[in-house]
Amino acid sequence: MASDNGGKVAAIIVAAGRGTRAGTSDVPKQFRPVGGEVMLRRTLGLFAGAPEVALVQTVIHADDDALYRQAAEGFNLLPPVHGGATRQASVRAGLEALEAHAPGIVLVHDAARPFASSALIARAIQAARETGAAIPGLAVTDTIKSIDRDGFVGETLARATLRAVQTPQAFVYGPLLEAHRRAVREKRDDFTDDAAIAEWAGVKVAVFEGESGNIKITNPEDFMRAEAMPTERLGDIRTGTGIDVHAFGPGDHVVIGGIRIPHTHALTGHSDADVALHALTDALLGALADSDIGAHFPPSDPQWRGASSDRFLKFAVERVAARGGRIAHLDLTIVCEAPKIGPHRDAMRAEIARIAGIAIDRVAVKATTSERLGFTGRGEGIAAYATATVRLPGGEP
Ligand code: MG
Repeated sequence: MASDNGGKVAAIIVAAGRGTRAGTSDVPKQFRPVGGEVMLRRTLGLFAGAPEVALVQTVIHADDDALYRQAAEGFNLLPPVHGGATRQASVRAGLEALEAHAPGIVLVHDAARPFASSALIARAIQAARETGAAIPGLAVTDTIKSIDRDGFVGETLARATLRAVQTPQAFVYGPLLEAHRRAVREKRDDFTDDAAIAEWAGVKVAVFEGESGNIKITNPEDFMRAEAMPTERLGDIRTGTGIDVHAFGPGDHVVIGGIRIPHTHALTGHSDADVALHALTDALLGALADSDIGAHFPPSDPQWRGASSDRFLKFAVERVAARGGRIAHLDLTIVCEAPKIGPHRDAMRAEIARIAGIAIDRVAVKATTSERLGFTGRGEGIAAYATATVRLPGGEP
């Protein structure tokens, strides 16, 4: 068995097909929505968000550059390459493009399987590390027969030995690239999956447990079936909370929720001390389990002195996008005796929505006093509490 040389894990997303079986539409099926999101975007999100996958190489059709740019917006991916006339040629284009990165393991996945789980991706990588080449398979429940030219049964196959095979298929990179190159040299262009090429080249291919939910969207009925998928397949829903406090000091205005409000004091802090945007930033980072604002922007770092806090929130928003996630909702509560927040509520909501790139009806701003109790009640400072709800791709099965 070939060793993976300790290199990174790469994923090739095959998205160059024309999708003619999916019914009449002006765009290929991988650019049509499935479960409320463009199919390719959902698939890219699975791999962009997989912590083990370092490189994502998409293979697209030369006509689809503009559609691709939209589908991949915000993800950290390698530049796409154009595919060939067959799936086999497209995968080879992806493999060749990855050569400069010398990956250890490569996963090959069809854009038309947007419901693979993060657990399946992890299983594929593990299986390839252990065996050199591994594919997900499911036991078949239908009896399968081969037929002859006239449509009569040739043979009834032994069901127990059969597996319906899916993607991602996972391989040690070097031998798969070599097998593809050899297929070109020997003018073989009839392989329907990468395991078949590996098998032909003499690589032993292991089978690990696939997922019944990892359906391939091929026919119009598959799009309808996808709409009925359990909600956990439509996203890994996360909630994060964030709390921040800043003390009053000398000054004539505060900045809360990105809005400048005249006041008898200012809030003290290293940046502009926007307690609301700091709490929201931590809430988003919390939803991603991605540390906190202080770790990403150390207060000891002079470059954040007086910084406008929209950049902190923008950073967290970009972290969500890089994971293929979407912000479903932001909820903020500000605790102070003064200044009055109510008159500025909608301006804050609009500003937060702008920074987060979401609709204003997904942003709530609430305010309360603490009945003159505690540090907020004594007018020593302001506290803010935030909750963020984020949908990441690839919920567990
Ligand atoms: Mg703060």
